[in-house]
Amino acid sequence: MLDRESLPLLGEALEVLEAGFAELPAFTPDVDVAAVRAVLLEVARRLQDNFPYPHPLYAGQMLKPPHAVARMAYALALWMNPNNHAVDGGRASVAMEREAVAHIARMWGWERHAGHLTGGGTMANLEALWIAGEAMGRRTVLASAQAHYTHRRACALMGVPFETVAVDRSGRMDCTALEARLKRGDVGTVVATAGTTAVGSVDPLPDLLALRARYGFWLHCDAAYGGYFVLADNLAPETRAAFDVLSQVDSVVVDPHKHGLQPYGCGCVLFRDADVVRFYRHDSPYTYFTQAEWHPGEISLECSRAGAAAVALWATQQLLPCVPGGAFAGMLSDCRRAALALFRLLERDGRFLVVWEPELDILVWSARAGSAGEASRRNRRIFDAAARRQLHLALVRLPADLVRDRWSLEWDQDTVLCLRSCLMKPEHAGYVARIHALLCEAADAG
Ligand SMILES: *Cc1c(COP(=O)(O)O)cnc(C)c1O
Repeated sequence: MLDRESLPLLGEALEVLEAGFAELPAFTPDVDVAAVRAVLLEVARRLQDNFPYPHPLYAGQMLKPPHAVARMAYALALWMNPNNHAVDGGRASVAMEREAVAHIARMWGWERHAGHLTGGGTMANLEALWIAGEAMGRRTVLASAQAHYTHRRACALMGVPFETVAVDRSGRMDCTALEARLKRGDVGTVVATAGTTAVGSVDPLPDLLALRARYGFWLHCDAAYGGYFVLADNLAPETRAAFDVLSQVDSVVVDPHKHGLQPYGCGCVLFRDADVVRFYRHDSPYTYFTQAEWHPGEISLECSRAGAAAVALWATQQLLPCVPGGAFAGMLSDCRRAALALFRLLERDGRFLVVWEPELDILVWSARAGSAGEASRRNRRIFDAAARRQLHLALVRLPADLVRDRWSLEWDQDTVLCLRSCLMKPEHAGYVARIHALLCEAADAG
């Protein structure tokens, strides 16, 4: 399950890296290899206590192994450990960050933008909402009831009012409810989600843009999970229509550490208006603010950031450019293909209830049952029975309102605990039959 074939490349690359510093007097760091070995082997034993995330039978939460090139480039960079806080902390990795972020922005056609990498989607969204507040006045922020909880929390942190907007029966923001709220006024920002974390729904960006034209708010798109699907070639028309107008929103968040084959610690925030960097102006005695030669730490909430994360992302984009029709785009299409294939099997299987055709690669379903309570208990048993068969799924609690008119259940409680799968690995496409077979075994046992 764990690739080791690429490991010798690290030694070869370290020699090339070292050659760049040949003019320094000899210096050998002191490493007690025997002591390190003992600890490292103990670490390996400790790490056995994990679900098998890299294996295609891990089809649960949003976990995906980084690409070998990302892993190796990250490791290689650690011998230097650059800090992308400032150019002095890592000239090469700061340049690679700019190139990597520009590469992401070009996925939806932004040639000019502001933006940078972050520790993850949480920091990236916080930063987008902060800038939106600076630009619009700190007025109310709206997001759908299926938006990530990070938005409510970020608003609490900033002391900005936050409200949710109902979703329609596809889990997308309900634009009628949104407009009713906009009419009451004092809304500064609307957060659209392109790929909600629980169910993978994509908010209707074309309709939201029409409302922005009428009501004038900052439209932020949280595409932490779904952003890379702009490259997929097999989206449903409504989903495609949303991604096709991504270039018109005011800010976007994408997590390379979700679908971009990166190790954790790699989110990205991007702004359509490059001049938003003016909002970051500060009086640090340590660094300078110049727009021509900016230091990344001056246009970022976080100061120290892993240069290695930028190096890994840049390396991955060299190998697998984020372009339509490319091998990387094919991986996203494969993930949706896998989710669709499993959906079709479950739809035809009398044992299960499905919600709706997956927009991306996140699938939610339930065991058929008489009541919401019984369904929840059965789903938990199936989750456990599947894990005993090495099929690892996830659970998600859905509000009754989302599925009430699709599933004829007795609603003895106002939520239902469902089964959920993020089919994030392109290899999942070849495992759908196996996953379905194991799931059926688990359902019959549970
Ligand atoms: C994962 C996710 C986040 C949070 O990002 P982290 O990288 O986990 O901090 C925010 N929004 C959405 C839609 C997500 O899927």
